[in-house]
Amino acid sequence: MSDISSTRRARPGCPLSQVKDKLRQAGLRPTLQRVSLGWLLLGKGNRHVTAEMLFEGARKARVPVSLATVYNTLKQFTETGLVRQIAVDGRKSYFDTDLTDHHHFLIQEEGKVIDITCASMSVIGLPAAPAGYEVERVEVVVRLRRAPSQTSSELE
Ligand SMILES: [Zn+2]
Repeated sequence: MSDISSTRRARPGCPLSQVKDKLRQAGLRPTLQRVSLGWLLLGKGNRHVTAEMLFEGARKARVPVSLATVYNTLKQFTETGLVRQIAVDGRKSYFDTDLTDHHHFLIQEEGKVIDITCASMSVIGLPAAPAGYEVERVEVVVRLRRAPSQTSSELE
């Protein structure tokens, strides 16, 4: 039996039952695959993941899903507002479980996305939306690269 099925019997109020509630509230049937991936994605606080990272997490937790299923599930989670897709990189999509408005640092070389809290930055001079459209939200990606003299321990 997998980790998922053994935790299914856990008491109400545990993250897994919260995941099921979140799925139902989003209008998604809590299938085993959705619950398993939702648990991996939403059960550990706010995070930024790619489909590949979630797939790797599923593999480690012995959740039997294909990468295509992970992509499809992330697409459904995005469409139903359970996660937010962050447009940071043409080659990779990052998904954010934090649905509040905030911006991101991207360290492309390391595949790392870090939150910038709204309090620490503001966007001014926003252009008017084209006719027939309105601004839904503004997401800023600040791209970082390693400063020449710094080592990773200095960044911590
Ligand atoms: Zn974020």
